[in-house]
Amino acid sequence: MGQAEQILKDIFGYEQFRGAQRDIITALSQGRDVLALMPTGGGKSLCYQIPALMRPGVAVVVSPLIALMHDQVEALKQLGVRAAFLNSSQSSFEQSDVKDELLSGRLDLLYIAPERLFMAATLGLLRQIDLALFAIDEVHCVSQWGHDFRPEYRQLRQLVGLFPEVPRIALTATADRKTRADIIEQLALGKAEQFIDSFNRPNICYTIAEDGQPREQLLRFINDNHPGEAGIVYCLSRKKTEDVATWLRSKGREALAYHAGLSADERALRQNRFLREDGLIIVATVAFGMGIDKPDVRFVAHLNMPKSVEAYAQETGRAGRDGGPANAWLSYRLNDVITYQQWINSSPAPLAQKQLERQKLEGLLGLFETTDCRRRHLLGYFGEDLPEPCGNCDNCLSPPQTMDGTEAAQKALSAVYRTGQKFGITYLVKILLGKDDERIIANGHDLLPTFGVGRSLSNQQWRMVFRQLIAQGFLLADHEGYGGVVLSETCRPLLKGEVSFHLRAVREQRLKRAKSSEAGATVAMADRPLWEALVALRLRLASAHKVPPYVICHNRTLLDLIDKRPVSRQELFDITGLGTRKVERYGADFLDVIAKNPANSRLKNKLSDTVNESLLLFDQGQSALAIAETRQLKLTTIYGHFAEAIEAGLVDLSALDELDEPAVLEIVDTFEAQNTLETNELKSSYEALEGRYDYGLLKCVLADRMLVL
Ligand code: ADP
Ligand code: ZN
Repeated sequence: MGQAEQILKDIFGYEQFRGAQRDIITALSQGRDVLALMPTGGGKSLCYQIPALMRPGVAVVVSPLIALMHDQVEALKQLGVRAAFLNSSQSSFEQSDVKDELLSGRLDLLYIAPERLFMAATLGLLRQIDLALFAIDEVHCVSQWGHDFRPEYRQLRQLVGLFPEVPRIALTATADRKTRADIIEQLALGKAEQFIDSFNRPNICYTIAEDGQPREQLLRFINDNHPGEAGIVYCLSRKKTEDVATWLRSKGREALAYHAGLSADERALRQNRFLREDGLIIVATVAFGMGIDKPDVRFVAHLNMPKSVEAYAQETGRAGRDGGPANAWLSYRLNDVITYQQWINSSPAPLAQKQLERQKLEGLLGLFETTDCRRRHLLGYFGEDLPEPCGNCDNCLSPPQTMDGTEAAQKALSAVYRTGQKFGITYLVKILLGKDDERIIANGHDLLPTFGVGRSLSNQQWRMVFRQLIAQGFLLADHEGYGGVVLSETCRPLLKGEVSFHLRAVREQRLKRAKSSEAGATVAMADRPLWEALVALRLRLASAHKVPPYVICHNRTLLDLIDKRPVSRQELFDITGLGTRKVERYGADFLDVIAKNPANSRLKNKLSDTVNESLLLFDQGQSALAIAETRQLKLTTIYGHFAEAIEAGLVDLSALDELDEPAVLEIVDTFEAQNTLETNELKSSYEALEGRYDYGLLKCVLADRMLVL
């Protein structure tokens, strides 16, 4: 095993390098400059952390996000790596401690913001020590083309002159060519080795919702797929973030708004809660998220269109960094598109810039309206080829139906034309549907030949037609900016019937459920007690060490512990994510919890999960009534579960407190009188007993009798 592999295993507890990590580490540790483009969650940090440990001296990590340095450093300390940060949030005592550590060679990594790096005092300090490397994180901040330009990043060019011997690695998750060229130019990285990883994030399932009620759709999406899990919901305006957060709270979900209008303290507080609590939802403007390296964000939802495909990839990339299943869900409205087009039309920007904005919008609409695999489309946009459909996006999971929509399209275009190309979609749909509407009558539009010609389609279907006409460029926003649509040049052949128009049919049923991503849901019922105990242990350790739970360990580590159930310290080294230091620190706690929560072998059976869930609670001493309450199920249903367990020989009838001996005798007598044991028909016995015993209880007795017979 090479030195890099050894560190990967011993310190980080991982078995293998991912993607380009190995090659990047080799180049950097041999002193070459590197430019690394990797998707969010691709594992950029290890690319400089491991060389930092291989090379003599201190690695300086430049990062724009002061607020996150604390957690990043804490995570390293948990692994036993000697790391620290220098920033304005520290007292002068803390700062001078760090300086001492630096000067006496007790640090391997130093995190710092660019403005502080270039202060004379800091440069003076760095000149006195050995430097292993410079890592420049979020390097797209150096470019005006990128989405997060920070002028102070421009200074980083000086590093070449100031420290010519020290290798540099620049890292980003932003893919586009223009930004990349700019980074190389700005930071004089012309000689750097470039590594461009695949931007595919196979664990993220992409879904674009149908036109509808976005909030209701959002709630359903969250409740169906992510009850109790952390996620980010993006909105355009501050007000909307507040509204949506309030609405989610009214529906019983813990949700907080996050936007630039909040005080810095309040924002820090909310971000902290998001990192440290389980299952919090943040409803945010795009101000939130860059550098949030919370690995267990299980979903990212958009209630508005992002600005571009690049932004969409970036924002959705914040889901599932730990590699576990995650969802990217988006709902947009026609009005978003029209508003956006108008905004471009009316902006004072030069023509070329407007052209670029239009192309970005077209790129987005192409992705949203495609009937092909979303992932393939997305990767294709970045010039990457996905040979097979992915099987993990809405279009793959429930392929959309298409139909010939030429006639519908012609009617819609005609409605636009005959009303003078100045009305919005809602109005036009009313005309097609022949609605009595004061405005329509006042304008005399009820007299148009198009009035009422579209009654065979629903309101929703017509909106779909318009959405796709806009997406395919047949309709455009009007230039005056009144919210109307106008015909584009390209619709002539369509109106003449020379080309046909394929319409994506509205999905009638709900989407087939993507794999449930709730981590605990994949744990077998027999192992649930251990899972819960481990989650509780992690939370305890996290609050004792004042770090987010994922800094103690990821879900993947807990699942591996359950899977392998190690009984010795030695066996703990085989668990993913447990390096030497974590085994030393927490190993005993893990082993203890594992020993105290043996697998419940009774739950390893052929019965369904729901039966076993009731059985598990029963084993933990809950009564049928309590179980019904916990699980929000009817009492009869719980008794029904018991009946199945009795029939399988897993539960004894006498264990049910509800039935004492006289009761059982009475029921058995009635069964005999009603011939129930032959017919298996409970109704007559139930009636003969005048409903004094629950139907489900009768099932239990019947199951018991059948077993005896
Ligand atoms: P990025 O900065 O590229 O978004 P990170 O460096 O935060 O990604 O890594 C994402 C997650 O993947 C982290 O939790 C990290 O510990 C984990 N990870 C990185 N490399 C590996 C690997 N080779 N094996 C297993 N897990 C890894
Ligand atoms: Zn797909």
